[in-house]
Amino acid sequence: MVHTRFLLAFLLVVVAVATAEKRYDGYGLYRVQQSFQARRFLSNIKGLDWWSRPGPLDTPGDVMVPKDKRLAFEGTLKTRRIRYTLLSDDVQMLINAEKERQSDAIARKGKSDSRITFDRYYSHDEMNAYLDEVASKYPDIAKVESVGKSYEGRELKGITLSSGGSGKPLVFVDAGIHAREWIAPAVALYLIQELTEGSAQDLLKDVDWVILPEVNPDGYEYTRSEDRMWRKTRSKTSSEDCLGVDPNRNFDFHWMESGASSDPCDEIFAGDKAFSESEARALRDYVLANAKNAKAYLTLHSYGQYLLYPWGYDESLPDDWRDLDDLGNAMNDAIKAVRGTEYTVGSSGQALYPAAGASDDWSKGVAGVKYVYTVELPGGGFYGFDLPASEIKPVVEETLQGLRVVGQKVAGM
Ligand SMILES: [Zn+2]
Repeated sequence: MVHTRFLLAFLLVVVAVATAEKRYDGYGLYRVQQSFQARRFLSNIKGLDWWSRPGPLDTPGDVMVPKDKRLAFEGTLKTRRIRYTLLSDDVQMLINAEKERQSDAIARKGKSDSRITFDRYYSHDEMNAYLDEVASKYPDIAKVESVGKSYEGRELKGITLSSGGSGKPLVFVDAGIHAREWIAPAVALYLIQELTEGSAQDLLKDVDWVILPEVNPDGYEYTRSEDRMWRKTRSKTSSEDCLGVDPNRNFDFHWMESGASSDPCDEIFAGDKAFSESEARALRDYVLANAKNAKAYLTLHSYGQYLLYPWGYDESLPDDWRDLDDLGNAMNDAIKAVRGTEYTVGSSGQALYPAAGASDDWSKGVAGVKYVYTVELPGGGFYGFDLPASEIKPVVEETLQGLRVVGQKVAGM
């Protein structure tokens, strides 16, 4: 009997170690009004994780709060009379539900052919395999290259799509710099599919497209197997307990001036120095290699439905901000026309809060690209961080209409 009990305890330990996935039992997910002010009041509570970036005025932001911080969190909001709604009392349940939906999608996938389908989220290996498949199927227009390696040695593959000729205006698109934002690489892959064999082939006539669909594969794979809410890279830091840098605070343009942290345990840790991360360096070099013809740079994120242009490091605006605002609004109109999805258009620093060291500011300020946008795609709301797999298709389809407007705009430049 004693032996059996011992054995049982031993087995439980083994099971616990084998499935050491990060859990979020009892974590609360809150939607906070006036999140801009709230964020300041809440800054002394450690471990808050903003899922959607809070904006000024009454724009709500979604924030995940660890179980042991919820009392202090709610207390602060009540004292400050800031309204909030509890979206979920247990984030782990949301994650479990998302997982179930995902495995349903994979089971369905088993019955279909090998072609990319956009009814589930793909692994990094599958994404790279898809790029190679496109390159071998369309050798006249597609060129795949390795543009660097992640911290853990995964290959960062980019694709150039061009109908030939030289010196054409170019649109640069990247996705997945934040690991948990799964919908972003899906949009990038869909763009590749539509440019090569779908409804966007006409956009290749006068414009070249360079696309890096997964900037942060270490983080992405980590969200698939260990911690769904992981955002950063997976590099070692000065803290033994806390890995990873926010690669979107790691760019060398007004680095660490605002909205970034020097604490390795924070979600927005900027790194010990600018470009400490191999992923950020690879993206930097890839943009620079294309900077001569690049007229637009789009970086895909989730969530919150924002179309943000520079500057992000503070509330100031570039001289040509009206051009950026006009094109942003045209993108919004095109997306909205599909099924009503609406984006907020504005500068990062004004529409949201200042955050320095991001790839968008750097692309305009250093690489000199004119039309620069961070696209915060739609999120899952009650569903979790990202949309259920069944809703990938409608989102990638509507977003393509926004990207089409950018292609048309730069065609004559
Ligand atoms: Zn992001």
